[in-house]
Amino acid sequence: MLIVLPGDNIIGTIKHVFERNPRANKIVDEIHLLAREYGDVLKIMNFCGTHEWTISHYGLRTLMPDNVELIAGPGCPVCITPGYYVDLLIDLSFEEYVIHTYGDAYKLPGTRIRGVRSLYEAHASGGKVRVVYSFLDSLKHALREKDEKHVFFAVGFETTMPTTAFPLMAHSVPENLLILHAYRLTPPVMKHLLENRPDIRLDGVIAPGHVSSIIGANAWVFLPEEYNIPVVVSGFEPVDVLLAVKYILEMKLEDKPRLVNEYTRVVRPEGNISAKKAIQKVYEARTAYWRAIGYIPDSGAYPKKEYRNRDLAAVLGIEEKPGPREHLPGCRCPDVVLGAAKPTDCPLFMKRCTPENPYGPCMVSSEGTCRIWAENMPLII
Ligand code: SF4
Repeated sequence: MLIVLPGDNIIGTIKHVFERNPRANKIVDEIHLLAREYGDVLKIMNFCGTHEWTISHYGLRTLMPDNVELIAGPGCPVCITPGYYVDLLIDLSFEEYVIHTYGDAYKLPGTRIRGVRSLYEAHASGGKVRVVYSFLDSLKHALREKDEKHVFFAVGFETTMPTTAFPLMAHSVPENLLILHAYRLTPPVMKHLLENRPDIRLDGVIAPGHVSSIIGANAWVFLPEEYNIPVVVSGFEPVDVLLAVKYILEMKLEDKPRLVNEYTRVVRPEGNISAKKAIQKVYEARTAYWRAIGYIPDSGAYPKKEYRNRDLAAVLGIEEKPGPREHLPGCRCPDVVLGAAKPTDCPLFMKRCTPENPYGPCMVSSEGTCRIWAENMPLII
């Protein structure tokens, strides 16, 4: 049996929270008072993997009243990136292309039953794979190595889209560099969750801080207006997250759901205008496949016709098609990503699936809920 308990290191980090910001103590007391007054169970989804890291690393769940539950959401782009992209890039790495990937997606499993499972394994078997920090790195490599053909694996949400949108808009991407666009958009997945998974009843949402710095806090106003759900755009310090919980409780008690921007030091209501303009100029939203979740309308960003000359799928004439093993047997990632299960509900957690040897996609990236839980919680096995 596997039990996850708040052990000494969690107590240590909680102490650290209060030392870092004396206000934290007061906010926790206020949360308890408000939760007692509210009475019912309150389920709050933190969309973003980095919020999940803050909550897990600082042991914030252990500070919550019994009736306040913090649920991790779909905010890990690597976790939902289809395995068929990985298969395609593995094939290309053994042909004439050098594949550029973020370190986060290096060990992302593809959909094969046997053989090479990830770009990491492809590299170990002689495939041409390179880890890059950004698209700028890829540009530099492609300009330096003009005789090679390069492919950049563009995984991410709206936060990373400007890094390719600006060079595409400026037509400064060299001919020997193609982009595999695996971009996914965040508001559509929240709509999908609310409309298709009534079992995951949400009372409040902590909206992603990084994504909102690009798309703007106002992008989340549909949650209170269309779904009656309070939403707080929050920063990533423990106190930011505690404040978000407190604001959601206050809105629930007043029965006045609205949008609150707690992260005003970074996020503007309208977002980053020039980044948004570049994204809108280069990309269009289309229905896209989310790994093991399925197709979600308007949730993928693909280049418009005039920018497809550097798009791998368009240049090679590849049709996107989910592989037979997008869902790995036994892996509960589809439920973990949508907040319907915890990592510890998965029988493979810290057994067959560990940060060193990830089996499922949620254990690969530092933003994956399983990886975060594995690395931040003391375990008794
Ligand atoms: S522990 Fe591993 S196998 Fe289980 S849900 Fe998480 S990623 Fe999937």
